[in-house]
Amino acid sequence: MLVLLLVCGYALLQFISSPPSVSTGEAASVKEAPNPPKEEREEKKAKTPAKQLAKGPPLPAPAESCDDLRVLVDHEHTLPYRYVPQDLVSLDAAGVPVLNGGTLLRSEAAGQLQLLMAAAASDGEDLIIASSYRSYADQQASHDKWANFYGDPNAGGMSALPGHSQHQLGTAVDFTNSAAEYQIWQPFGRTSGSAWLEKNAGKYGYVLAYPEGLEAETGYQWEPWHYRYIGPENVERLQDSGMSLQKFLTEEGVRPRC
Ligand SMILES: [Zn+2]
Repeated sequence: MLVLLLVCGYALLQFISSPPSVSTGEAASVKEAPNPPKEEREEKKAKTPAKQLAKGPPLPAPAESCDDLRVLVDHEHTLPYRYVPQDLVSLDAAGVPVLNGGTLLRSEAAGQLQLLMAAAASDGEDLIIASSYRSYADQQASHDKWANFYGDPNAGGMSALPGHSQHQLGTAVDFTNSAAEYQIWQPFGRTSGSAWLEKNAGKYGYVLAYPEGLEAETGYQWEPWHYRYIGPENVERLQDSGMSLQKFLTEEGVRPRC
């Protein structure tokens, strides 16, 4: 009996110290968390909210019209030929000095331009508007003229293709003055009128769109005469951001969907 007990005790100890290896899949599934089938994993991934996957804060919702003052229009982003701002007003009627009659601009931009021009005049600057709103068809004609002049389909980087011009937005203006012989050209950038604009235009919501040194970023030559209206609040945000106008508008994410 004692022998039998000893044998049984030894057998029991053996069993406890080295349990038999488990070979069934069922037993293994108890020990480890199951690996879901591939399809199930894909489904889980798809259900993860997009905002958790995106880097940085979400972009603002894209505007449903091209009227947003921050809409991005450049070599890659096109306005449709049919887009015409619905609140164009005559700059003549607003009392803004213009080179040619029939010069139009969107209402808010025209109101601020009137204040800007009055402030410039009181500082002794004789700024005058050489160009403002241009329709898609006007821009086509302007581009063709420059392309013929330069013998270059890109118009020497001096003129946007139709649909790619900020002038079609009705919020861009070209300034000149007597010191620049009333021309739209780079000598304007060396006049006191240009220096005045660089310092003061932002107060009225206007920004130099194609600055010197940022040609590669904007895709345009330095255009000291060309300013775009984005509104005083957006100018403040732009200045706080330290970004160029091109980068700021790209980040704002408003695309020309209209
Ligand atoms: Zn211009």
